[in-house]
Amino acid sequence: MEFKNILITGSGTGLGRAMAIRLAKEGHNLILNGRTESKLIETKEMLEGFGVRVLIKVGDVSDSNFVETMISEIVDEWGLLHIAINNAGISGTPTPIIDISEEDVQKIMDINFKGAWLVSKFAAQIMKKQRKLKPLRGKIINVSSMAGKEPMLLLGIYACSKAAIIMLTKSMAKELAPNITVNAICPGYHITPICNDDPNFIQNIIDNSTMKSLLKRIGTAEDVAGLISFLVSDDSNYMTGENVSIDGGVVLQ
Ligand code: NAD
Repeated sequence: MEFKNILITGSGTGLGRAMAIRLAKEGHNLILNGRTESKLIETKEMLEGFGVRVLIKVGDVSDSNFVETMISEIVDEWGLLHIAINNAGISGTPTPIIDISEEDVQKIMDINFKGAWLVSKFAAQIMKKQRKLKPLRGKIINVSSMAGKEPMLLLGIYACSKAAIIMLTKSMAKELAPNITVNAICPGYHITPICNDDPNFIQNIIDNSTMKSLLKRIGTAEDVAGLISFLVSDDSNYMTGENVSIDGGVVLQ
């Protein structure tokens, strides 16, 4: 297998960290991005021993100057960017759509949607020029959510941002074919720092998702990392424009 240079946004915690561990175990070189340097350093320390190269890029994915600089620095330092994984995201505080502030709507859309678009845009501009890579010059993998497919009570604007990612995935897959693939994953419930840290709230999510899941359990970050491993691998090279659910069948209930 060819080892790849893979950018994972939001990889200081949660699903992004689990993806980093899985992909490092498989021998890939990683660029870790997030806003909090100490969390990225913690992730980097967890990758020691796998013998892969790791770069840390601290910054905000909704800041176009930062994203453009980050992508060009990756290429200056490592030559190639094989894969960009748009994982960074926020859920915002659970609030009815008619009560959420304009400022909060802007923030959720800026980070979840604009951030994924910006990283995809600057990454794809570089990938298009990577002619020596065959059969694909690059891959983009977006992290949407089951909330992008079905409405979620009190997280309506978050759901809108994740639905926008599904359409971004399909639209970019069309525009970037045949040299770059674009796919998304739609996770269900997973306990990570994005959840409110109130133990009652977390227990409620666990009970609710166990009840609603056809597989009768909540998902783990490792479940998600397994799907990412497949999308990173050459076995997924004939897929593009897909939005793959990984939710234990919750959306079917
Ligand atoms: P998390 O809070 O642990 O991870 C999100 C990461 O993104 C954090 O490390 C955070 O610092 C980073 N981030 C936030 N804003 C950023 C910005 N502006 N620039 C750069 N980094 C930023 O939560 P998670 O559950 O691991 O979430 C990862 C992704 O998975 C998110 O996009 C989330 O919407 C999605 N998701 C999570 C679940 C779940 O149940 N946990 C379900 C569906 C989708």
